[in-house]
Amino acid sequence: MPPHPDGGKAAKALWRTTSEFLRSCANQVLMATLPVEIINVAHGTRKPLDEAVLLLNAHQDAYRFTILDSPEAIAFQGGSAECFQTAELFQFLKDQRKVLRGYHPHLVAFVERRLDGSKWGNLLASADEDGNGDLTGLGAVTWFQIPQILGAVPEAVYGIYQLLSLAIRFTVGAGMIHQERRMCVFDFKRQKTDLLPIIQQGELCPPCTERLKQYVDQDQLVAIRSTLRMMSQIALAADPRGELDRLLLRANRLPRIFLSHAREDKPFVEQLATDLEQHGCRVWFDKWAIKGSDFVAKIEEGLRESDHFAIIISPSSVASSWVAQERNIAIVLSTESGALQLLVIMLQDAEIPTFLKIYDPIDFRNYANAAQYQAALEKLLQAVSRPAAGAERRDNPEPRR
Ligand SMILES: [Zn+2]
Repeated sequence: MPPHPDGGKAAKALWRTTSEFLRSCANQVLMATLPVEIINVAHGTRKPLDEAVLLLNAHQDAYRFTILDSPEAIAFQGGSAECFQTAELFQFLKDQRKVLRGYHPHLVAFVERRLDGSKWGNLLASADEDGNGDLTGLGAVTWFQIPQILGAVPEAVYGIYQLLSLAIRFTVGAGMIHQERRMCVFDFKRQKTDLLPIIQQGELCPPCTERLKQYVDQDQLVAIRSTLRMMSQIALAADPRGELDRLLLRANRLPRIFLSHAREDKPFVEQLATDLEQHGCRVWFDKWAIKGSDFVAKIEEGLRESDHFAIIISPSSVASSWVAQERNIAIVLSTESGALQLLVIMLQDAEIPTFLKIYDPIDFRNYANAAQYQAALEKLLQAVSRPAAGAERRDNPEPRR
C-alpha cells in the first residue's frame, strides 16, 4: 500500500475513534453491574470501609463493591514504613490480578500510610494509567489524615466518596478530573481540605453527568446521584454518626434475594429482578458473574450475601444441573445458620423437587397477565419483608430511585 498523503494521521484518528467506540460498546454490554474489588494493603479491613461498602451496595447497582481477603496484601510492606508510592501499589495489584482466579477488571488498594505519586506527594487517591493515558482499572486510596480533615463526619463517608468516584472514572475513562471548580466530585483538589465541602455538596457537575450518561442507564444514573446525595446528607447532618447508623440499619434490613433460575427463563427473571429492586429489595442473579471463570465462587458469594433464596420452577430449571448446584449450597446454608430462607416460585408446571414440596409456592404461571403478575409479586414482597423491616420501611419510604 502507498504511504498515506497525510502521514497516516487520518488512519490514526479513525483508529482512535474506532477504539473509543469499541470501548464504549464493551462498557455498554458490561454495564449491567460492574464489579469493583477492594484490597487492604498492609492492614486488615476497617469498620469505615465495611460501612461504606454496605451503603454503596444497598443504594445503587451500577457497581458491586466487594472487599477481598488477601493475606499477601496484609503482609505487603512496600519500600518505606512512612508512605506508599502509587507505582508500587499498582504493581502489587497487577501481580494480584495474575494470582486471583476469574475476572477482576477493577481493583482498589486501601492503605493507612501517606500516599505519594510520581508527580505529587501526599495524595488522597490515584487511578493508574497506561502508556497511552488510559485507565487500567487499578486505583489506590489512603486513609492518611482523613479523621483530621473530616472532623465529626465519619470516615465511612470518605470511603463512599472514593469508591464511587473511582468506579465512575473506571467506566468513563481518563480525563474525568477537571481543574475548574464546579463543586463537583471530580473537581481537582489542590488541598486536602477541599475534600469536605465537595463531599457535603455531593454533586456531579453537568458536563460530568453528561459523560457518565453515555455509560450507565437512566436508573443507574439516578441511583448513583442519589448515593452521592446520601453521602452529602450524612456529612451535613447535625449528628453525622447518628445519621450514618440510621442509614446502615436500614441498608441491613433491605431484603436480599438470590434468584436461582435456568438460562431459558432469563427474560422473566430480569423483569422480576427489576420489579423487586423498584420495591427496595436487593436482588442477586448471575447478570455479571457470568463473565468470570470462577462462576461457582461467585454463586457462593451471592448466596452468602442473600437472606432469601428463591428458586424459579420450570421444566428447564428442574432439569438444570446449575440450579441443582445452587439449590444444594442454599440448603446447606439455610440449615447451617438459618440465615437463608427458601422460597418457591412457580413459573411453569414442573415436578417440584421433593424437599421443596413443603413450601407454599408463589404462583407466577400466569405472569403474562398483568393483574395476576402484580398479585404474585405482592405475595413475594410480603414473603421477603420481615416484620421488623416492614415497620421501618413504611416510616421511611425508600427514595432509592
Ligand atoms: Zn464535574
